[in-house]
Amino acid sequence: MSAYILEKLCRGCQRCVHACPQNAIQMLSHMAIVNPRLCIECEECMEVCMQGAITFRENREEVSTHG
Ligand code: SF4
Ligand code: SF4
Repeated sequence: MSAYILEKLCRGCQRCVHACPQNAIQMLSHMAIVNPRLCIECEECMEVCMQGAITFRENREEVSTHG
């Protein structure tokens, strides 16, 4: 599992970027993106996200474009 950011809910506040102890989150066009290889599932990002945009899911190589 790793953190995953729902792009429809993310408003680019970068709170999660600063909260992540692994530097696993980066901004990409005003939206946060998690690098699943760095994520240790500490849930810090989920705690600070005011938008409820962060969820957890299984790591899969095939990343489907949703929405
Ligand atoms: S804390 Fe939430 S709303 Fe803010 S950048 Fe991260 S995912 Fe987006
Ligand atoms: S769960 Fe922890 S390590 Fe993973 S992206 Fe969120 S803050 Fe970073």
